[in-house]
Amino acid sequence: MNQFQHDLSQARAFDAADRLFEYRKRFHIPVIDGKEVIYFTGNSLGLQPKGVKAAIDQELKDWADWGVEGHFHAKNPWFSYHELFTSAAAKLVGAQENEVVMMNGLTVNLHLLLTSFYRPDGKRFKILTEKKAFPSDQYAVESQIELHGLKLSEALVEVGPRAGSELIETEDILAAIEEHGDELACVMIGGVNYYTGQVFDMKTIAAAAHKVGAYCGFDLAHAAGNVPMQLHDWGVDFACWCTYKYLNSGPGSISGAFIHEKNGVDQNLPRMAGWWGHDKSERFQMAPGFKAIPGAEGWQLSNAPVLAMTPHKVALEMFDEVGMDTLREKALRLSDYLMFEIDRISSKLSSGRLEIITPRDHAARGSQVSVVAHGFGKPLFDILTKEGVIADWREPNVIRMAPVPFYNSFEDIYRFAEILEKACEA
Ligand SMILES: *Cc1c(COP(=O)(O)O)cnc(C)c1O
Repeated sequence: MNQFQHDLSQARAFDAADRLFEYRKRFHIPVIDGKEVIYFTGNSLGLQPKGVKAAIDQELKDWADWGVEGHFHAKNPWFSYHELFTSAAAKLVGAQENEVVMMNGLTVNLHLLLTSFYRPDGKRFKILTEKKAFPSDQYAVESQIELHGLKLSEALVEVGPRAGSELIETEDILAAIEEHGDELACVMIGGVNYYTGQVFDMKTIAAAAHKVGAYCGFDLAHAAGNVPMQLHDWGVDFACWCTYKYLNSGPGSISGAFIHEKNGVDQNLPRMAGWWGHDKSERFQMAPGFKAIPGAEGWQLSNAPVLAMTPHKVALEMFDEVGMDTLREKALRLSDYLMFEIDRISSKLSSGRLEIITPRDHAARGSQVSVVAHGFGKPLFDILTKEGVIADWREPNVIRMAPVPFYNSFEDIYRFAEILEKACEA
């Protein structure tokens, strides 16, 4: 039996019963023409937590008051600033504290990790990835192959959807891993596909990669802060994520990296090294000879970009307060409700069709719902935008929406459905 109706009072009752509802007030919701927008692009740039400004002001003040002494005397000493994130970031991705570190941008981290975990050696030289991955990931993987002097046509294995589908079957990924077997050096795919919102079965994929002797890592750009994960228990070798999408930490903000303990303790694992990854007790001796900090911290290059990291501190505290399980529960209800409304509207259309390409199965999706608007074009999306809906349009006719549990309400979805239904009729 369907639990949802198209009914404003039902949506409001869901909001009234929602223990996360209060969190909406802790974010800046953009206002256009005097009205709060319906913000469905938290998968692209999460909204600003209201605490960010005061937190940045604190760092500016400490810089003004202390100058270089702020490294030790700031309220949050900059020397060890990255350590403020360790506990919450570890919980976020299901890691041990020595397995995570915040540093750099996402694509930078992807390169750093591939440098350590994609090391073609004789017969074992291939890397497996998802077809039509986010472009930056494609470029990173392709350029890594070329850096090793290998040919894309020989070293790159891409697994794509079957004909007529947008989704990639786990079965097909496993078959490809099996097929390339001992020629495979590394498996690196997105934890959640940015286009369809499909969540990959990371545990099963990692196990299959290990069975053939390959390393396995994930780009968690669309997974971190969206779906709960257990990277340590799943035995994932490495992972990285950005913090400006579901993690609400500001445009281009700091990235996270995960290196499983079994790899992190190996101080001889090849890597691109920098002084911030060097043994802390000796860092300021400025002596030759790199000695890696055991664990993920040993992959750091530079000292922490404190001003860029501060918003993440504020945002991560909220995730820590609430926990991924609570967020996940609401995310699934919001997206179930959104799917109900899209199906309802589609079934009433006299021409055209709204096809949800995101998997319906809870285990295979996060917050995002991607819809192919058959028989509609950009004008449909333009009406949505004009009516105050901020969503994402991909040519020729795909709309991506990500209701986010921290700040989207059930009423947002009801109001969106009203707008979408009228726009489809127009
Ligand atoms: C958003 C996203 C990126 C963006 O990379 P940056 O280095 O942060 O600019 C890369 N890969 C994936 C899969 C993404 O979703």
